[in-house]
Amino acid sequence: MSSIAKARAPKAMKVAYVDIAGQHRPLKAELLKAVGGVLDSGQLILGPQVEAFEKALAKLCGVKYAVGLNSGTDALILSLRALGVGPGDEVITAANSFVASASCAAVLGAKPVLVDVRDDYNMDPILLDRALTPRTKAVIPVHLTGRPADMGPILEICRRRSVPIVEDCAQAIRAEYRGKRVGSFGAAGCLSLHPLKTLNACGDGGAVVTDDAKLYEQVKLMRNLGLQTRENCVVWSGNSRLDTVQAAMLLVKLKHLEEWTRARRANAAFYQTALAGIPGVVVPKDGPGEKAVYHTFIIQAERRDELKAFLAENGVDTAIHYPRPIHAQDAAKPLGYAPGAFPVAERQARRILSLPVYPGLTKAELGYVAETIRRFYH
Ligand SMILES: *Cc1c(COP(=O)(O)O)cnc(C)c1O
Repeated sequence: MSSIAKARAPKAMKVAYVDIAGQHRPLKAELLKAVGGVLDSGQLILGPQVEAFEKALAKLCGVKYAVGLNSGTDALILSLRALGVGPGDEVITAANSFVASASCAAVLGAKPVLVDVRDDYNMDPILLDRALTPRTKAVIPVHLTGRPADMGPILEICRRRSVPIVEDCAQAIRAEYRGKRVGSFGAAGCLSLHPLKTLNACGDGGAVVTDDAKLYEQVKLMRNLGLQTRENCVVWSGNSRLDTVQAAMLLVKLKHLEEWTRARRANAAFYQTALAGIPGVVVPKDGPGEKAVYHTFIIQAERRDELKAFLAENGVDTAIHYPRPIHAQDAAKPLGYAPGAFPVAERQARRILSLPVYPGLTKAELGYVAETIRRFYH
C-alpha cells in the first residue's frame, strides 16, 4: 500500500450492528428496581404493571385498547383468530416480510397469499387489489423497516371489499402515515417487543392495539386460555400472556422511546446525506406524508455480498433483512409459488443490506460506516 493510500484509509473502528447491553447500561438501576418491585409484590402473572403498560401503549398508538402478549407472532395469530380466520380462508401479506406475517395464517389452517412490494419495501396496493378473492378474510400490511405501508389506497381497497386489516407493526411503533400512528388504521395493530425491536422487552413480548371493543375482549380472553373467570373457559385457547416483569421493564423503556426514535431518525438522516450520490447505492427516505422510525436502515447495493464482506473486514457489522423471501422458505412449498413470482422482492433480497442504525451510535461510528462504503466503491 502506498503511503498516500495509507494516509487516506481512516483508522479502523469496530461498529456493532446492535448494542442491547449498551442500551441497558444507563437504565440498569431503574430496570432492576422495576423487577425488584414485581418480585416483592409476588404478582408475577398479569400484575398491575401489565395493565399500566397496556394503557400507556394504547395512548402511544392513538387507540382505545391494548393487550399485552408474549410475542408479536401471537399478536398476529390472536388478531386473525378474533376476526374468525380459519381453514379455507385466505390472508394476504407481503412476500418480503418476516415469516411470522404469513405463518400466523397458516397455523390457523388458512392460506397465506403473498403479494409483491414496491421500492419502499411495502405491499404494492395495486397487487393487493388483484390478489383479493371472495375467500380473503384479512389483509396484513407490514410496515417493514419501520416505514409505514401506503395505508391510503390499502384502506380504500379493503373497505370497498369489506375485508378487515391487521397491521403488522412489529418494526414500526411510533411510525406515522399522514399524521396518524401505525396500528390505528386497521381492525388491529400487532406489535413485537422482542429484544431486537425498537421498543424491546428483556426477552419476548408483544401486543395487540385496537379501537374495537369486541376484538379487544376476544384477544384478552384468548391470551389467557379462554378463561372468562377462574372457573369458566368459554373458548379453547393457549397461553399468550405478557410477563409482569417484562411489563415493568417496558414501562421504564417506554419513557425513552421518543428520544430513541429521534436518534434513529437522526442516524438515518446522517446516512442519507453521507451516502448520497454513490453510484450503485440506493438509500431509503421518508415518502410524502410518512414518518418512518428506521427500525432498520436498508440500502440496496451493487455487489452486496462483496460490500458486506468488505465492511466486516473493516470492523462494521451489518445484517440482511431478509435474505430469503417468504415464498422461498421450505415451509412455503405447498403454496406453489415459483421462483420469479415476486420479482421486486426477489431482486431486493439480492441487493439489500441493513446498516447499524441503533440509537447509541456515535457520529464517528456513523461517519466511519459511510466512509467505508464510499471506499468500497472507489
Ligand atoms: C419480529 C417480527 C414479528 C414477530 O414478532 P415476535 O415478537 O418475534 O414473535 C412479526 N412480524 C415482523 C415484521 C417482525 O419483524
